[in-house]
Amino acid sequence: MRLFIVSNRLPVTVVRRDGGVEIRESVGGLATAMKSFLEATDGGRGLGFREVVWVGWSGLRAEVEGEEVRARLRERGLLPVPLSEEDVSLFYEGFCNSTLWPLFHSFTVYTVFERRFWEAYVRVQQRFAEAVASMAEPGDLVWVHDYHLMLLPAMLREAVPDLAVGFFLHIPFPPPEILQLMPPQWRTSILEGVLASDLVGFHIHEYVNNFLRSVAKFLGYRVEVGVVHVGRRRVRVGAFPIGINFEMFHNSALSPDVQTAAEELRQRLRGLKIVFSIDRLDYTKGVINRVRAWERFLREHPEWRRRATFVLVVVPSRTGVPQYDAMKREIEREVGRINGELGEVDWVPIIYISRFIPTPTLHALYNVADVALITPLRDGMNLVSKEYVASRRDCRGVLILSETAGAAHELVEALIVNPNDESAMVEAIARALSMEPEEQCRRLRAMQERIRQNDVVKWAVDFIKATVEAYGEAREAAA
Ligand code: UDP
Repeated sequence: MRLFIVSNRLPVTVVRRDGGVEIRESVGGLATAMKSFLEATDGGRGLGFREVVWVGWSGLRAEVEGEEVRARLRERGLLPVPLSEEDVSLFYEGFCNSTLWPLFHSFTVYTVFERRFWEAYVRVQQRFAEAVASMAEPGDLVWVHDYHLMLLPAMLREAVPDLAVGFFLHIPFPPPEILQLMPPQWRTSILEGVLASDLVGFHIHEYVNNFLRSVAKFLGYRVEVGVVHVGRRRVRVGAFPIGINFEMFHNSALSPDVQTAAEELRQRLRGLKIVFSIDRLDYTKGVINRVRAWERFLREHPEWRRRATFVLVVVPSRTGVPQYDAMKREIEREVGRINGELGEVDWVPIIYISRFIPTPTLHALYNVADVALITPLRDGMNLVSKEYVASRRDCRGVLILSETAGAAHELVEALIVNPNDESAMVEAIARALSMEPEEQCRRLRAMQERIRQNDVVKWAVDFIKATVEAYGEAREAAA
């Protein structure tokens, strides 16, 4: 039996250099998660897979990818799906990031409905289905990831008989009232596409319920707790909250690189409490709300000026998309204004970094930040919050977390806020900065225990085992 992992992007970046090609591992969330899983299961063999194949886009345009790159990828167990410039624009930037991403995060006014985006969404997934079908055999297990590939399970069922198929969505699933905004034929295909799986997984129960309600409302199928009846077929639906590599973060404070970086930060920011956040540049992350809350905090609590600073890291993402470029300019305008109005010769209210930061620096920031201010407007899970908590071996630090992040369902000992409630944010910052060490530690310990037990390896193993089980049930029912 083979395991196919299918996602939009392969877990590598291909760089052309000096006439040659370099293949580098990427640090994306799913790539990191799967790496931990494969290490822990002896490359999948621990779960009975003789081979693991990852199917996805290499990041290069098909026109320039070439046979040599494809051969090099295949040697590493990676099966590239060629995408043209036009595919990337209409499928990835179009339907994925201009239709599904905003709609599923309930940003309805940002959502674009364009027929050519939809057509590319169908066309590209057919290409993914062909790629999987070129290798997969009856009895293999295919794990399909995320909103880029919601039609794929149904296409796979047509192409290869008798596959075990699991689908996992890494972003929120919206309530039916929001999904209803999408043209009926598209939303029907998406729901049916996903329901061709044996198991459908989401991060939290709320998304499971939204999905089940949508299936009942738009397709009329009978749903029960955790099950959809599609004719005689039963599809399992469940919550599988993704975790992190707890030990890696918990041990980060022991690494000499991280210790050096952390010591340097402490020296440079001596005498200041550090409030910290890091996000990809995205409207779902609520950066502007956070910056304004910080400004109001400093205005209402002037005693904290010169005693605290906010290290705001915003990692570039989806550059070239007008909405994202405009948001970046707005953040920069606000940060500039606040630093100009409140800053002193020897103190800045906000230290703003707008780049990808090296891993030791990120780990050092997790280790020295007195407060992590993680306040997305909506977030499927949010791993940064878990990584911050896991990193605190010293049992110090306070997490402020949005109730609208999936992680808030597990990290209940955080100071939970609504990111649109500026007064509540100000109050939480004040409370966090003055929290007694004993209380900090009590809250952290409880969260750490939960993150340790529900780590990323458990997430992947649980999901795969549940897919195998659901597939077994479906075969029995069909027999
Ligand atoms: N990350 C990183 N380097 C950076 C910024 C972020 O490695 O400069 C990682 C971070 O450690 C986390 C992930 O990117 O694992 C972000 O995941 P999250 O769920 O918080 O947000 P997403 O970007 O997936 O919406």
